[in-house]
Amino acid sequence: MSNESIKQFEDRVKNTIKKFNLIDKNDKLVVACSGGKDSTTVLYLMKKLGYNVEALTVDLLIGDWSKKNLDNLKKFCKDNEIKLHEINIRKELGYSICYIRSTIQSKTNLNNCMICGVMKRWLINKKARDLRATKLVTGHNMDDEAQTIFMNIINGNPKLSLYLGPRSGVRDKKFIERIKPLYLCSEEEVTQYSRMMNFPVLYKPCPCSLNSFRRKVKNILDDYETRNHSAKYNIVTTFLEIKPKLKRLYKDEEIIYCKSCGEPARKDMCKVCRLMSIVQN
Ligand code: SF4
Ligand code: ZN
Repeated sequence: MSNESIKQFEDRVKNTIKKFNLIDKNDKLVVACSGGKDSTTVLYLMKKLGYNVEALTVDLLIGDWSKKNLDNLKKFCKDNEIKLHEINIRKELGYSICYIRSTIQSKTNLNNCMICGVMKRWLINKKARDLRATKLVTGHNMDDEAQTIFMNIINGNPKLSLYLGPRSGVRDKKFIERIKPLYLCSEEEVTQYSRMMNFPVLYKPCPCSLNSFRRKVKNILDDYETRNHSAKYNIVTTFLEIKPKLKRLYKDEEIIYCKSCGEPARKDMCKVCRLMSIVQN
């Protein structure tokens, strides 16, 4: 990536923020960080663009992988003078994600990322709200979004895509709106940018995701993209065109509050409380 390509990449992120009206100047941004290339890139750019930004991470306690990512993130935040907030999953939920997952999987057929994703989103939303964040920034890129749209179709659940897009999530006072400034950047471009900027990150996937459905879909889309270079862009932009129609087709479910933890939910109990009751019983 040349200096020219770095500028083009940064301009695309700026244009994405402008095009989708992602950030107001008074926003307090909290970036959900894993220590990986995507969230580190978006954290760096939010700081570089002059926004009021802090970093938030969940230590999932996935052995050496979590430890290295956390060390990298601490170094990055220190070097860039960004305040980092850490959530330790054992302190919050009583166990490591590996224990939570294996216990749930001994009784259900839920996959690794589904369980882990639910826990992380719940922890991050709660903490971002405590930090008085007005927007929660994620490192989701165009590949991630195209994969999710595709997965929801394959699973026969396009309704779930209602919560996708560059500004995503549900509208609720207890839910911090999520924004995705890398929405129109491919994973390859983010990787090149991160390498060029010498960010201290691991370029290895999470060890728990190797057999995931997402990874299989990723391989299909990557393979197809070698023959049709705009495949992922087409999936994402077509989705944005039809999203208003999807909204009319599927009525949004009402948000209520979990009777156990008080967090936003669609049933009496939120997904985290339902899953944790499996772990504890
Ligand atoms: Fe969790 Fe899956 Fe992400 Fe690994 S890849 S951290 S298991 S959601
Ligand atoms: Zn709950």
